[in-house]
Amino acid sequence: MFDTLSDRLTSALQTLSRKGRLSDADIDATAREIRIALLEADVALQVVKDFIARIKDRAKGAEVHGALNPAQQVIKIVNEELVTILGGETRRLSFAKNPPTVIMLAGLQGAGKTTLAGKLALWLKKQGHAPLLVACDLQRPNAVTQLQVVGERAGVTTFAPEPGNGVGDPVDVARRAIDEAKRAQHDIVLVDTAGRLGVDEELMKQAADIRDAVSPDETLFVVDAMIGQDAVTTAEAFRDGVGFSGVVLTKLDGDARGGAALSVRQVTGQPILFASNGEKLEDFDLFHPDRMASRILGMGDVLSLIEQAEEHFDQEKAEQTAAKLGSGQLTLEDFLEQMLAVRKMGPIGNLLGMLPGAGQMKDQLAQVDDKHLDKLQAIIRGMTPAERDDPKMINASRRLRIAKGSGVAVRDVNELVNRFFEARKMMAQMAGRFGFGGGGGSKN
Ligand code: GDP
Repeated sequence: MFDTLSDRLTSALQTLSRKGRLSDADIDATAREIRIALLEADVALQVVKDFIARIKDRAKGAEVHGALNPAQQVIKIVNEELVTILGGETRRLSFAKNPPTVIMLAGLQGAGKTTLAGKLALWLKKQGHAPLLVACDLQRPNAVTQLQVVGERAGVTTFAPEPGNGVGDPVDVARRAIDEAKRAQHDIVLVDTAGRLGVDEELMKQAADIRDAVSPDETLFVVDAMIGQDAVTTAEAFRDGVGFSGVVLTKLDGDARGGAALSVRQVTGQPILFASNGEKLEDFDLFHPDRMASRILGMGDVLSLIEQAEEHFDQEKAEQTAAKLGSGQLTLEDFLEQMLAVRKMGPIGNLLGMLPGAGQMKDQLAQVDDKHLDKLQAIIRGMTPAERDDPKMINASRRLRIAKGSGVAVRDVNELVNRFFEARKMMAQMAGRFGFGGGGGSKN
């Protein structure tokens, strides 16, 4: 998602960075390129027009600012305007004063509602809530079973009409679910509704009837980000037909151009609350306009990375490692531990994709894959503790044994060991220069 847009924006803005002063003509030229980039990404025309007008206006009127060069100022403005069209502040769910909080999901069939119901249920559960999933999609065969399956995977209860009672009335199911939630002390009720392949009146009426029966605290419009411009028309239809308080974008992991994400907030006036980016229940999070903007601009989603790192980060361990790094005493055991800690955060490609400048390093990144790391891990695991502690003792015969034991070529072991020494030396030098890490003699 956003790759092309990101590349084009970065290159449009890079042209500026070579200039000391920006003329109005420079700004116009850049604005033109940004406009093309946004239109190619399938952003709605009106949104593009407003965006460009604001960029031009602000860039031309910008005061010379001591800390930033003109190009950086434009980048800052573009970033701020991107954050604005994506919704500004991160909007969080609002909960009812008197539980249960009722959250209704609406959207077209295939948008990812049922999957999302499971994701949201798991996410809420992790935060200490006790959600009840409610199957009100009684139209699509299997929809109820599918919801029960995601409910089970998320470890939450699903409320569904008893089988054998005909098709059933979704409004009645929704009403009974609220009673059940009160009885069984669920503080959140998540109502999955039926979708159709296209917008139609009956669908809207059914969703509106469910809405009237359960008075949701939040109605979330779920939309597939891959459908491009259609996302906007669908959103408008749901806004007028059912009304919603927030948007969930799904399939952000796809390779679509991303225009929907950039248009839907502006066009509907409702914020994007969540983003779904994969088929697994964990591939889901709050939508942060600021992080998304910096990701689009190729500055990397540093904040997300930091947050993920924090979640898996062991402060004490990190300080010990930093001290060892500084003194050149890092061992292969430390290296293995670090690698395992990083990998806990997710597939390495995803992590690297969040780093600043990652957009321009795609080719190199493509070579760093999990398989390569698996191999490094296998090699280190094939070493004895003494070897990991003092890699210098790994002579030719040991290398041969390690290679055989871990199913790789001797050349792979050589490469790992040599690179490790190089890296350790470089880090110790850097640590010396920047003054971090502890004292002590080098092992090198
Ligand atoms: P519903 O008809 O709106 O309930 O949609 P479903 O939840 O059944 O999802 C339709 C398809 O999209 C399923 O194959 C899901 O696995 C898939 N899907 C849902 N969310 C995502 C996502 O964020 N990324 C990807 N790649 N696929 C998704």
